[in-house]
Amino acid sequence: MIKIDINIAISVFLSLSILLVFTVWLFYNYKRSSILSEINELEQCPYCAHIFPKDKDSELKNCPQCKSYLSS
Ligand SMILES: [Zn+2]
Repeated sequence: MIKIDINIAISVFLSLSILLVFTVWLFYNYKRSSILSEINELEQCPYCAHIFPKDKDSELKNCPQCKSYLSS
């Protein structure tokens, strides 16, 4: 049987817990920054409030939901 000092056991447990929380924090921050960069490429219709991806090429476009013409 392996004998472990109680101080080492507690420090290993706390270190692993902190490492897990830090890993989860990094994961969600990375995911949130990618979501925020995608938000810059979205556009909201002023008439029906529908959110759709922005089309950079066309000057005149219409909302995919209510078919209203939108100016860029
Ligand atoms: Zn609309």
